[in-house]
Amino acid sequence: MEDSVNISILNRFEKIATNNRLAHAYLFVGPELTGKSETALAIAKLVNCADTARELFCDACPSCIKINAGSHPDVGVIDSGDGQSIKIAAIRDLVSRVQLRPFEAPKKVFVIKNIEQLTLEGSNALLKTLEEPGSDTLLILTTAVPEKNLETVKSRCHVVNFFPATQQRVAATLEDDLDIPEPVAHFLAYFSEGCLGKARRFYQEGIFERKNDMIDHMVLEQDNEAYLKTLSADKEKTKEALAVLLSWFRDLMLLKTGVEQGCVVHADRRKELLSLVSQYSFNQLKEIVEGIVDTSRMLGENLNIKIPLILLREKIWTRS
Ligand SMILES: [Zn+2]
Repeated sequence: MEDSVNISILNRFEKIATNNRLAHAYLFVGPELTGKSETALAIAKLVNCADTARELFCDACPSCIKINAGSHPDVGVIDSGDGQSIKIAAIRDLVSRVQLRPFEAPKKVFVIKNIEQLTLEGSNALLKTLEEPGSDTLLILTTAVPEKNLETVKSRCHVVNFFPATQQRVAATLEDDLDIPEPVAHFLAYFSEGCLGKARRFYQEGIFERKNDMIDHMVLEQDNEAYLKTLSADKEKTKEALAVLLSWFRDLMLLKTGVEQGCVVHADRRKELLSLVSQYSFNQLKEIVEGIVDTSRMLGENLNIKIPLILLREKIWTRS
């Protein structure tokens, strides 16, 4: 049930709404399938439900029914799809709807999913609305990649964190049900950010074997030009390699901040992680992570990533 409504967050919003202390804009941060947009729509029902006597919402009044059906005129969702940029036209449409009076709802609610897919043009168009959306509008943005979001957008939102089902539980399930050895189960559970369905898929795809090969070639061996060349010829492989790199450097950032070693994704490579962590400053690690996120975005937009990959390689190899 990873993708269902987060009840504790919904309860928090009910209290805030009852006390009339709802902010104009929220940013929901958390891995995929942690129920961010489902919770956002539940909040839309919460603030607009006609049956005020009910706890949370009734799911039966015209407002709740229309929100469930995706046909409420005052509730909108922008979902650009996996890896696709959010169209500027969708943002402009939203901005003009914010300026209109609500058709029937006490509060217009707009959800923008995967805000990391906003183009610069899109976020600029959105900024003014985030500043002064009007008291009859609630904006909820979601992201799984908080590093990517423009500070200007983030600073105008209240951040709410969503956490996945515990990775340990997923690791244990993989070990028990599929007889997967512990180091592999640990990696799959953490790499999938606690999502069992994804972890199973990664297992079927044999990602564990490939990811160590990728780390060897991209991080530990300096002589990797031929590898990068072969890699960058295959979009899907490049995408996977960037995801592996991202998790590797996030691990290093976690270790740098003194997080318990058991929480890292690549626990099977603990020795290499620990020897690398002292060779980078925190800012270097942050820059590498940002570089990886940018390169992934460019790949998603079908831009040429040859130069970003070279720059990334240089950053990775600038060690003390
Ligand atoms: Zn209702």
